[in-house]
Amino acid sequence: MPVDPMQPGPSAEELFARALAVTPGGVHSPVRALAAVGGRPFFTRRAQGAFLEDSDGRRLLDFCMAFGPLVLGHAHPQVAAAASSALADGWSYGTAEPYSLELAEFIAARLPWAESIRFVNSGTEAVMSALRLARGITGRERLLKFEGCYHGHADAMLIRAGSGLAGSGVADSAGVPAAVAADTVVAPLDDVAALEDCFARHGPRLAAAIIEPLPANHGLLPQRPEFLQRLRELCSCHGSLLIFDEVISGFRVGFGGMAAATGIRPDLVTWGKIIGGGFPVGAFAGPRELMARLAPLGRVYQAGTLSANPLAMRAGLATLQLLESGDIHRQLEALGARLEARVHALGLHFARVGSLFWLPGGQARPGVLRSAAQGDAGLGTRYALLFRRLLDAGIYLPPSPMEIGFLSAAHTAADIDHLGDALAAADAERD
Ligand SMILES: *Cc1c(COP(=O)(O)O)cnc(C)c1O
Repeated sequence: MPVDPMQPGPSAEELFARALAVTPGGVHSPVRALAAVGGRPFFTRRAQGAFLEDSDGRRLLDFCMAFGPLVLGHAHPQVAAAASSALADGWSYGTAEPYSLELAEFIAARLPWAESIRFVNSGTEAVMSALRLARGITGRERLLKFEGCYHGHADAMLIRAGSGLAGSGVADSAGVPAAVAADTVVAPLDDVAALEDCFARHGPRLAAAIIEPLPANHGLLPQRPEFLQRLRELCSCHGSLLIFDEVISGFRVGFGGMAAATGIRPDLVTWGKIIGGGFPVGAFAGPRELMARLAPLGRVYQAGTLSANPLAMRAGLATLQLLESGDIHRQLEALGARLEARVHALGLHFARVGSLFWLPGGQARPGVLRSAAQGDAGLGTRYALLFRRLLDAGIYLPPSPMEIGFLSAAHTAADIDHLGDALAAADAERD
């Protein structure tokens, strides 16, 4: 029998105890355990607009928004309608279908650097596939990534800097072979000299450099255009492919993501999150001649039983159609600016690009943090307290000081003011 949605269900405490018995840590993705803020998870039963509703019947104003996909808010009616009609038509065919074609054409017609697109099931899979393609095209094995950037959990990307700048990395997870780590070189962000040194040493062996052009997984670390431009030049000069990982920034900072915002063109781009309207999806894209190296045309193998899932394709297209005019991005910029003004008045550290914001809970520091090393000292120490005070006030912030917050089209100026007031109250309590 279906659960009556109006009846109170089991408490979060009980649900968590049961989840611990059948799932490692009780969750299916680590940050959901809320360990970084010293809590146990609440259990969301449904969500609408800018709000989550949990198993205890609490309504929470959501500034995490599923970590990025829900740029329109939860359960947006037009996305819901697209997904419902998709459901009625069956939800997996294992054949060619017109829905991924429509989404690919919609994107390719607007973003000339994405002539040819392949859809997969997650951002991780998009990155993994783009890296294999780059290795297949160049016949090289080494990869360059940047400290503080996250690219999903493929072995080759779970690597952090070893000792010494721009050297071979070391595994950041048990289970990643040392031989894999040895092929990933890790360089610091925002350091042109280290970048040049890295290409001088590894350039001829680098298949690809991958970067979040707007690093948003270790706080928000906006890069100087000159740094990205120099990376573009060095890749071209050494015959390495430049991969922009726009899984977060794509369609979020503007329809064309950071490639459009900076005018810097990657060779390959990866997407996820927004591109499926909140359904499981990923994609990678590039010029036709590079993408033609993939199976079935080329010798680089890549496949997926559930790839280009019609629900995700139709929800994704509905989402991108709503984003295309730029009106929503302008609305999000105005909301972001409103939040920025409130937070600045409180003297808290804050970084923002459009609807992405970083509020790690510490005092404001002069200047913009642009590298992971700079951001590590001191920020985040008070975050757990801030997080819990806001949760008590009915506001859900990202559950770690290193995760960024997201605004959506469902947030209103009143919601921003509510957050501003709650931050002020939490701040007053602290002093
Ligand atoms: C979220 C994210 C990924 C991984 O995507 P999943 O769908 O979680 O596998 C990769 N790269 C970036 C930049 C991301 O933000």
